[in-house]
Amino acid sequence: MYVSVAIDLALDRLFTYEVPVELLGRVCVGQLLRVPFHGRITRGFALALTETPPAFATKPVMAIEDESPFFSPALLKLVKWIASYTASPIEVVLKTAVPASVLKPSARPKELLFVEPTGSAAELTKHQAELLADIVRVGGGWMQQLVKEFKTSPSTLRTLAQKGCLSIVPRQSRRDPLAGRSVVPTHPLQLNDMQARALDTIFAQDVGGRGATALPSDGCGAPRPVLLHGVTGSGKTEIYLQVIARLLEQGKGAIVLVPEIALTPQTVRRFAGRFGNRVAVLHSALSDGERYDEWHRIRTGEARVVVGPRSAIFAPVANLGLIVVDEEHDPSYKQDETPRYHARDVAVMRARFEGARIVLGSATPSLESWLNAQQKKYELASVPVRVAGRSLPTVHLVNMQQELERMGHVPIYSSLLLEAVRSRLDRGEQTILFLNRRGYARVLDCPDCGWVAECPECAVPYTYHRADQCLRCHVCGGWARLPADCPVCHAKELSYGGVGTQRAEAALQACFPRAKILRMDADSTSRKYSHDDILSAFRAGKADVLLGTQMIAKGLDFPNVTLVGVLNADTSLNRPDPRASERTYQLLAQVSGRAGRAEKPGEVYIQTFQPDAAAIAAAAKGDYAAFAAGELEDRRTAYFPPYCRLSTLVFRSKVETLARDWADLYARSLEGWAKKANAKSGNEGFRVSEAAEAPLSKADGWFRYHVVLRTPTAKAAVDAVKWLKSVRPPPDALRIAFDVDALNLM
Ligand code: ADP
Ligand code: ZN
Ligand code: ZN
Repeated sequence: MYVSVAIDLALDRLFTYEVPVELLGRVCVGQLLRVPFHGRITRGFALALTETPPAFATKPVMAIEDESPFFSPALLKLVKWIASYTASPIEVVLKTAVPASVLKPSARPKELLFVEPTGSAAELTKHQAELLADIVRVGGGWMQQLVKEFKTSPSTLRTLAQKGCLSIVPRQSRRDPLAGRSVVPTHPLQLNDMQARALDTIFAQDVGGRGATALPSDGCGAPRPVLLHGVTGSGKTEIYLQVIARLLEQGKGAIVLVPEIALTPQTVRRFAGRFGNRVAVLHSALSDGERYDEWHRIRTGEARVVVGPRSAIFAPVANLGLIVVDEEHDPSYKQDETPRYHARDVAVMRARFEGARIVLGSATPSLESWLNAQQKKYELASVPVRVAGRSLPTVHLVNMQQELERMGHVPIYSSLLLEAVRSRLDRGEQTILFLNRRGYARVLDCPDCGWVAECPECAVPYTYHRADQCLRCHVCGGWARLPADCPVCHAKELSYGGVGTQRAEAALQACFPRAKILRMDADSTSRKYSHDDILSAFRAGKADVLLGTQMIAKGLDFPNVTLVGVLNADTSLNRPDPRASERTYQLLAQVSGRAGRAEKPGEVYIQTFQPDAAAIAAAAKGDYAAFAAGELEDRRTAYFPPYCRLSTLVFRSKVETLARDWADLYARSLEGWAKKANAKSGNEGFRVSEAAEAPLSKADGWFRYHVVLRTPTAKAAVDAVKWLKSVRPPPDALRIAFDVDALNLM
């Protein structure tokens, strides 16, 4: 018997080992094995077993690291699909699917002594009796903690154990990410008619029955994906909770994906409040130990519901009944490094491979999913109104061009918005203000000679941070001191252009000296729980205004917020990206959705120079369907996704000519390939852009050039690039990143 093993070296190939007699019948696919490799000992995953000996000499497997497999055959199939779809080495995909910390022997849980009250005894001293009463009151606990809490010693506890009052036994400790956080149990709410109908639609997509998608490749049926289009506050989460509850009764498990930024303690509490210990939470801030324990609780089936960001799609949930992708349009589902997978697409494939239901939820679906629903590849469930008869907020557009003409300069806050804030302060209601730019000012420049303070490593202007009096680069994280005068013409008065959250905060404070303002952005949330602390303080009414970047745009549910202000709606609209309009619509709809979520109605003010732009006008009306129809028509005419696949090749080098020349070479070779492909298909479906400087032309000292491919299928692009990379392998000083279904064109 032979086994092919994926070794974590990113060599993009598997290695074959012989299974020694003592391990025969014990080695199986998905296990972690210990194997010799070029005179070293290393570990790797068993991917396939075969009887046929290879044509070369093999070494034997040394040992099985862990008997129980780390992934099921279905997960392995998923990993292989991702490797081929994204053109990534399979070991790299495996590494993404099984995080390193869950394989680390040092992360294994330790055994600690656990103390439990077992009875009482007659001859106790007063001190011992009091201590015992304390331990009975708290129901026992870890020895270490009890010693600390009750200011006693291990020997005192052991004495009590000898007298038969306590049992002290070693137990595996669980490192619980929710420990010490209060979780209030909740009960299912009575669904309204629309929610109930959406729930029925989800259950109507039966496995193998009506609504099932036929799978030519494996001949079985899988439930058809459901796109749950529900406006903000329509109670989508309550629907997920009730679908999961029903599936748990059937012994099935669920994965709920949420954008990392929305993975707030508030979200986690909603799931933990309903399902308690059956919930496992995975997110990037977990310690190795916490991640290890959560992951193994899932593997053993102790946890049946997994809540996490993108990478939680790989959670080893057995008997998977449901995958939810909440805020399915969110760009954070796409990974920015190899393997460049999109968790929504992976979720759809995993559900198909495992016959699980899948729900994609959003108030502003991606146009990819929307088109799939229009074409009946997905089933559409709509919840067009908020729960309990609450109305969507009234949206006002503020034309900043008029403000400019009236005031002679562009104010940070229009008078309309300031008035609205003032009335909230008077009434004791809360306000959320959104500005997608952290720092104080965007650029520091010289009004005399036009010099702009720019990061030397990246082709972007510095942002001025007032708190620490320095210039920071938001691309590479580098910083520089504030110059005393212009380094070119030595003018003394430099000017601050653009507005960041710090400046917006200072300006608001100047208008309303007594208002309590909380700022939330990457600078104010660098500590582990600062995110939660800010939100809790705001919820508790300790501030009047929450001002922040897109961190505050998603998922937050504060009943006392009746006003939302968007300081500059144009920043995301003017990006060089075919999805700029879609992103702007999504952002505005999400931010607006934070207003008026309880009984008091909400109002939204959007400041813009382009009130007529389709995305902004549609967001003001809250008319997603109209926006989507217009935008889809534009995409179809211009041949952009979802009507084609768009991928990018980014060429990076410290030597500019190398990046440029290779981009050029690749573009011309691909052009030749495209001509042939198009001649064969009889259309112009394969299109190659010219090689060009990427919009972010330099980052971290690396020059960046790119080529954009538009193809009828992802495979068409992958085949072309794989061929080209094999005939024209890049030199060491050049990196080529190939991004299939690219979302980021910077
Ligand atoms: P969404 O996820 O669509 O933005 P949520 O699930 O957060 O909406 O629901 C918004 C609020 O309405 C929450 O506070 C939730 O508890 C409440 N809610 C949801 N469904 C119902 C219902 N059927 N009856 C009453 N309140 C509900
Ligand atoms: Zn100057
Ligand atoms: Zn930089």
